[in-house]
Amino acid sequence: MARTGARREILDTDLENFLADAFRKHNFDPGKGLERVRAWTLLEQLRLFIREDGQRIEQNGIRVEKREKKLVADIEIPWLGHSIGIQGRLDRLEREGNLLRILDYKTGSPFPPRVRVDDVLDLKDLFRRDERSYFAALAAFRKKYPGMQLQIYLMLLAREQKKGWDELDAAYVFLREKSGSMIHGIFMTGGRPSRPFTAGEKRAAMEAFVSDLGEIVRDIHSREYFLPNPGDERHCSFCPFRLPCGNL
Ligand code: SF4
Repeated sequence: MARTGARREILDTDLENFLADAFRKHNFDPGKGLERVRAWTLLEQLRLFIREDGQRIEQNGIRVEKREKKLVADIEIPWLGHSIGIQGRLDRLEREGNLLRILDYKTGSPFPPRVRVDDVLDLKDLFRRDERSYFAALAAFRKKYPGMQLQIYLMLLAREQKKGWDELDAAYVFLREKSGSMIHGIFMTGGRPSRPFTAGEKRAAMEAFVSDLGEIVRDIHSREYFLPNPGDERHCSFCPFRLPCGNL
């Protein structure tokens, strides 16, 4: 017990030093004014995460397999006549029994990332739809799959590791979350209490996603002209193609 307490203290000091170094490296002084407040807030959030993460690792026998893992796959698209390459970099891969889980750290505002399996979504022939119906369909896609980044990673990981959907899992770590848990799985039911998807529900959610994503890819390759989406303001603000795309 005493040894665990001492280990925690060492970890805490290491974290504090690491954070102070990181601030100084970027020419911020973690000991003065507003920067001190920011460093302290960040330190508290990281402490909360480490506590929550440490507990779940210990209680569930979780093993961290890899950090910053690159995933690459060529996805065959029969109607296109060639495959398309998709790649990503996951923040952390961990194992819990037979389950492989992807974890992605988010420093932006938290959002509810669970897949809305019951949402009705019809993307058939998306590329033929007029502007209004097209944007409505894209909004419905984003609403159904708010954690789609992780579902794409799961597609790549399933291929690489030759795993079934029921052997995979994914969660976001919202480092800004102040109330309760920072770690939010994407395969959780709505309502209270929320529970993890059954194997069947997870399979259905991933199969529906693969099919829906196929329609999005088809739209990208088959639509006669590019339609900038004005509803995507947050993403557009970071986009290097903003000028040629015309979505100013
Ligand atoms: S600005 Fe970029 S992200 Fe936004 S619609 Fe245009 S190409 Fe897409």
